[in-house]
This record gives sequence, C-alpha cells and structure tokens, in this order.
Amino acid sequence: MENTISQLKQNNRLLNTIRYNPGISKNALAEQFEVSWPTMSNTIDNCKKAGILTMDSSLQINADYAHMIGISVGSAQIKLCIINMNFHKISSQIFQNLTLKMDIFKIARSYMVKEKIPLDDFVCFATPGNLFDLQSQLDCIMEDIITVIENQHLYNLNIISIGLTFTGAVDNIAKKIIKSHNLEFISDKPLSNIIFPNRINYFESKKINLYIDNNSNSSAVAEKYDLYNPLNNNYKYHDKKNIVVIYLGAGIGAGMVLNNKLYRGASNYIGELGHIEVPRYPKLNTTNKPEEYCSCGNQNCLDLLIRSDVFEKTKADFSLLNTEDIDTFLKDYPEKVEILAYYIGSITNLLINILNLDLIIFTGKFKLALNRMWLPLYHQLNANKLTYISNECTLISSNLGVTSPSIGVAISSYFDKIQEEIEW
Ligand SMILES: [Zn+2]
Repeated sequence: MENTISQLKQNNRLLNTIRYNPGISKNALAEQFEVSWPTMSNTIDNCKKAGILTMDSSLQINADYAHMIGISVGSAQIKLCIINMNFHKISSQIFQNLTLKMDIFKIARSYMVKEKIPLDDFVCFATPGNLFDLQSQLDCIMEDIITVIENQHLYNLNIISIGLTFTGAVDNIAKKIIKSHNLEFISDKPLSNIIFPNRINYFESKKINLYIDNNSNSSAVAEKYDLYNPLNNNYKYHDKKNIVVIYLGAGIGAGMVLNNKLYRGASNYIGELGHIEVPRYPKLNTTNKPEEYCSCGNQNCLDLLIRSDVFEKTKADFSLLNTEDIDTFLKDYPEKVEILAYYIGSITNLLINILNLDLIIFTGKFKLALNRMWLPLYHQLNANKLTYISNECTLISSNLGVTSPSIGVAISSYFDKIQEEIEW
C-alpha cells in the first residue's frame, strides 16, 4: 500500500494531465511539463514499469492500479459504487460478479428487486428513517466492504480509500456532519458515531482512509471530471473553469468549481441554495403563505417554495419522489413546469450575476425533468437584465445524474488519501 500511495503522489500531476487530456502525446506532455523529450520519456517508462500506466503505445492510465469506494447517503436512497483510476465506475460485469459471488449488499439487492432497478454498476437502498437503522444498515455495508477487501485479489481490485457523502453541511476536516435539513437525525454527528469504531479500526489497520463530504461538493467533483470523457456529449465544455453544479435531491444544493479548483468556502459549507429566500412566483393564484416553515426557519426559501408551490407536497413526501416521479408529475401538470423553472431560474440568475459563471450543470433528480424545463429556464435566463454576464453562461444537464455524489466522493477520497488538492 505505501508504495502504491507514494507512486500515486509522486506522479499525481502526470496522471491528472493524462486524465484531462485523453490521447495526449509524449511531446505535448514534455512541453506542458517544460522538460525535455528524453526526461518525459524516462518518467513515462518508469510509470509503465511501476504499473501506473499501461504498456500501450498511447498513454493510458492503468485503470486497475487502485480503486476507491463511494457511498452517498441521500434523503431517500443510499448508493454505493466502486471507481477505478480513470475515475469511472468499474464495469457492471465485474461489479455484478463480485456482488453475486460473495453474496454481499443483500439489503440493497432486495430493495432493487422490489423497485425493479436492475443490478448494474452500483447498488442502492432506501435511506432508513432513524439513526439506529442507519447505523446498523451502514454497518452491514461496512461488513460487506471488508469482505470485498479480504477477497479483492480475486477481482483484480486494490482499494485504497472509501468516501461517504451526506445530504447537509459536512466538516470534511473534523469528519463531522454539522447540519442536515433532510436527515435531521444525523445533524451534529461525527463519522465515528455513524460508522462503528471496530470498522474504523479495521480500515485504519489496512491504511484505507475514510473521507466524508456533502452531496453537492461531491457532485461537483464528479461532474467536472465527467466533462473530460471524450465519449460524453458534454465533452465540448471541458475547458469551462467556473462551474456551478446544482443538485436536486430532497432539497437543492450546489457545488462550485471556481478557476478550476473545487471551492469549499471557509468551512466547506458553500452552496446552501435551497435555504435562500426567493421571490414568490408572481402569477400564483394564491397569496397564502406555505403552511409549514422550512427546517431552516424560513417560509420563503427555495426548497419550501418548490415543495409547496410546484409539487404541493410535504418534505417527507417530496423526498420520496425519484427522477421518474418528478418527470411524470411535470408531464401530468405542465402548468407547474413554468413555476419550477421560475424558481430555479431565479437562483440560477443570482449565481450567474455574482460569480460570472461559464457553465451550470443540473444534476440529481433533475435529469429527466430538465427536458421539459429548458424553454422556460432559458426564458428566465433571457430575462436576466445583466445580459453581458448571462450571455457567458451555458446551462447543461448531467450525464451522471443520481450516481454523481457517490462517484464524486470516491474521487475526493482518493485525493484525500494522497493528500493532494482537487484542481483541474
Ligand atoms: Zn429552508
């Protein structure tokens, strides 16, 4: 393990440059690193010998050199995936193979059968409604992860880190969930209260680190990396440096990449979009205030207005809607699309005008519904009076959708393990 980590740390810049520039030549690399061709050639040969790069003549990262596990705890579902050194999920064939042969992730598998979700390259199950059940179900997952680690040689895996991401404000240094509006029972809980000490001790003994963050930051990391995938139809936006990723789960949060660095703010609490007060949709045929107060204390915050004016649901009921449910609802109630676009558009314009963004990526449960929203959303964007700023920004939809937090936190756990900044 120590040799693996020191190799990854030593060659971090080279690996990242290859990730951001798929198909880059040795010449171009030498130029970018300002070294001679023989020096670069020597470095590359050493990486090939160490197994970090493949022996191919084109420059390819050895995807199986190391692996990271990502677990996202959302208000409705918990998802788990394993990623490789290209920061892609391991193939569905390998993932299914190890899941079925080792007979692991049983809670998730029975949930997926019930919900008719095919076992592909990730597993998911319903988030429990109280702390005790969350602790015990996550403990089952940790037990399964230990089984994977103990047998990983059979599947050509080399797990170096595990990331967990939660809905809410998370202190990633102190490893503590500070406040979760959507899962109130995990507020003010350190990771050591969510994952039991015997499991933490096991991972420590194997030098596998446990990293935590929140869903929006994790999404931003995954979405930015996904732009560099040449097979992705959003590849043409890979040179955008000032990006906000707007994530819709049970509430709305945002992750930010500013000047090609993940922006965390003073305490990692950025992007609480859902609890910013926004003007009420003007053509609403009621002036009544929404009945409930949001857990943030506001009565006009974005989350509450979307729940009450668009979906007419309580927080608990809204959190149960999945991507398909939201799309079906908006298909059945087309008049609600404009109200939703008005609220999302208001917050989008606010972000654009403050930050002079060049890209906004919508992800999470938005994925399908966006196809109904582009027209009114761009109508909102066009209504932005500061056109010289709004003209610079493009709005796109994610290719990753609901798995982006789990992929992103797996990537973040990698950088935490090798103690390098997340930048592009
Ligand atoms: Zn609120």
